[in-house]
Amino acid sequence: MLPPALEGKIGAGHLVTVPFGRQTAQGVVLELIGQPAVAETKPIFDLLDPLPVLTGAQLELARQMAGSSLNPLAAIIDMMLPSGLGQQADVLFTLSNPQSSISDQQFSATQSRILTLLKEKGSLRGRQIDRHFDKVDWRKAAQYLVHRGVLASQSILPPPTVRPKFVRTVQLAVPLDQAEAALPDLGRTTATLVRRQSALRLLMRDPDAVNVAWVYAESGCNLADLQELDERGLVVLRETEIWRDPLEKIESSQPGRENSSIPFELTPDQQRAWEAIQAAFQPCSRRPFLFLLHGVTGSGKTELYLRAAAEVIRRGKQALILVPEIAITPQMVRRFLARFPGQVGLVHSRLSPGERYDTWRRARLGLLKVIIGPRSALFAPLPAVGLIVADECHDGSYYQSEPPFYHAVEAAKIYARLCEAPCILGSATPTIQQRYQSELGDSLRLELPKRIQFFNNPSDSAGLPPVTIIDMRDELKSGRRGIFSQALMEALEQVLKKGQQAILFLNRRGTATYVFCRECGTVAKCPQCDTPLTFHAEGLSDLRCHRCGYTRKMFEVCPHCHSHQIRAYGLGSEKVESEARELFPAARVLRWDWETTRQKDAHEIILGHFAAHRADILVGTQMLAKGLDLPLVTLVGIVLADVGLSLPDPFGAERTFSLLTQVAGRAGRSALGGRVVLQTFQPEHYAIQAASRHDYAGFYARELDERRKLGYPPFSRLVRLEYRAFDPVKAEAEARLMAVRLSKEIVMDERIQTDLIGPVPCFFAKMGGWYRWQIVLRGPEPGSMLRGIPMTGWRVEVDPVSLL
Ligand code: ADP
Ligand code: ZN
Ligand code: ZN
Repeated sequence: MLPPALEGKIGAGHLVTVPFGRQTAQGVVLELIGQPAVAETKPIFDLLDPLPVLTGAQLELARQMAGSSLNPLAAIIDMMLPSGLGQQADVLFTLSNPQSSISDQQFSATQSRILTLLKEKGSLRGRQIDRHFDKVDWRKAAQYLVHRGVLASQSILPPPTVRPKFVRTVQLAVPLDQAEAALPDLGRTTATLVRRQSALRLLMRDPDAVNVAWVYAESGCNLADLQELDERGLVVLRETEIWRDPLEKIESSQPGRENSSIPFELTPDQQRAWEAIQAAFQPCSRRPFLFLLHGVTGSGKTELYLRAAAEVIRRGKQALILVPEIAITPQMVRRFLARFPGQVGLVHSRLSPGERYDTWRRARLGLLKVIIGPRSALFAPLPAVGLIVADECHDGSYYQSEPPFYHAVEAAKIYARLCEAPCILGSATPTIQQRYQSELGDSLRLELPKRIQFFNNPSDSAGLPPVTIIDMRDELKSGRRGIFSQALMEALEQVLKKGQQAILFLNRRGTATYVFCRECGTVAKCPQCDTPLTFHAEGLSDLRCHRCGYTRKMFEVCPHCHSHQIRAYGLGSEKVESEARELFPAARVLRWDWETTRQKDAHEIILGHFAAHRADILVGTQMLAKGLDLPLVTLVGIVLADVGLSLPDPFGAERTFSLLTQVAGRAGRSALGGRVVLQTFQPEHYAIQAASRHDYAGFYARELDERRKLGYPPFSRLVRLEYRAFDPVKAEAEARLMAVRLSKEIVMDERIQTDLIGPVPCFFAKMGGWYRWQIVLRGPEPGSMLRGIPMTGWRVEVDPVSLL
């Protein structure tokens, strides 16, 4: 119910306080309705911000996301708001009669302390009082005082913890001769006189408003001195609200490789793509608005994003540019900064709450024309979204793998449609799903098959580096048991001799090991479902199938060739690093993985270090695959390509192909050329073969076939249900109960096309002390059967990106 005072001021998207039980809670107004559905409604207490915190398009996006992902609407809305806004309500305590003395009456020690505190400080919020009472439960005492009428209590929302930053400035307020005349008579003691004189002289030299911190530093004066000058009318002191700018650091620290402020002349391929994109901006009825920009690394995709953003700004709207991880794409960020100075806002996981809040407010006011950031940047409250780009749209980081689960690329597509904005998905390796959708006509595919610098090259080479496959089984046969093959060692040696750089890539996911024969390459598989078995040292039975639950003990000899060389295999980047150091003592080796990048700015530091050629070899994991442009890198060594292939996951081959192709694309980005050495125990695997030829089309055709045969997406949809418990017995029991319940549902609904897979322990069966069990539903529309089934305690993922 709207109280009369708020009539006309509140609408959809406003942040308000409402009574919630005996407390006050924050809420976002979803819509205003004339006839409430429930008999008893409560009045809205207050409006917390005169502007809506969510736009209409955002509200609709939240509704659709909640609907399609089975997340609660509140969880989605909560995620869209910056954290400073989502605070819990607090209680404000006020003395009823501040004049009456405390000692007059009979109070307990705690009661007296509360009263004394409030007398001294004025009204205080509960959380403020907490700080004065270490380990004392003062709330009971306070309640008693409220009951007796000594204190008044009121539910309120505390002010946001994050506030805009202010800077104090000072500026000369009189003509120069008048300031000159005032100089001799500025203070009684010599010390103050000298300080004030030098401050005033400084301001006489600089006509602009100056940050006081600078004046302090230059003249030795203090705030009192400046206040004195202000009182005399010689200067004006002002507080100016400034926007925190998280880009300051990036802009100044690393100068760009090229000056990107001038647009290039487009290549014919780019031109074709650009014409299609440009058409989407024209207001007409039946235009394609969703594009799959399929272009190899270095083919000029970013240039098209820049053009599209310029077009949008010209039309008075804003652009959202999503990237997998901002710390890893400084080059892309710099190009946007150079092209649109002062108009770009960054959303970044390492922003302080204050920085985040500022960016949010600037976006809401339409002051920022371009927002760049990872998946959460999609929720920047831009007033008129005119373009959404998802660069490297295949990347796994677009999926939020904690509740509320959602896929930012899917959400971007929904949002773009709601905003009637063109949406560009760009990648060298779109997912099978994304490519399949373009085949169905859901998106328009635009192809950039060649690297820019090879565009005028008459050969049919796309400019991608040649890949040499090394069969590691042969290495073993010739007695080399190290991490590096002969070929990779020689290649490294050459690169180091020439003073160039090398990247050593390790697909670290899956150090949880699988088992294979070093003689014949046979991977131990489940006899029931052909899924690779994984090795778990902690269990009773060493080998486990994570698809059907089959277990057995570790093999003594290879079931295929009877060799004793059957081993569990796992390999860490530390090991690669130390072996590289041993082999090449003179080389400077740098490691880049999740362990070395925990501290703030570590990505930038390591990358900057390597880019500045302060290291020769960079050893790293998945991050290396993401959009780096390092011209001195002429060798990429893929230490073990097939780890990801042997995991029990229908998306394993796709992920491996994409990673290998992306990593291989890091080599030879300049005129120096480059090559890739790919080590594997499964050289014949189609994902390895296709990646070694940079052959997306070949991989796509084969993988699509596999998916069709096995009935996996895009030929079905999946829902993954996970139960976690500290007690393994409980985890299993809950999973079995749910499986029975869902099996009945499938029969009752006659969902003959829906399978229930499981229940089985997850591949990563134990995580942070939790035992994990899962059930996978597969069918045309498996999510719909869950509506109405209580899923308390379950994590429900619609269209998961992995089943591990
Ligand atoms: P991608 O985003 O596909 O990896 P980029 O847009 O980064 O490709 O382009 C690769 C390189 O080519 C960049 O250095 C970029 O500045 C340059 N470039 C892009 N388009 C052109 C063009 N039309 N003419 C000349 N250079 C270009
Ligand atoms: Zn099995
Ligand atoms: Zn064997």
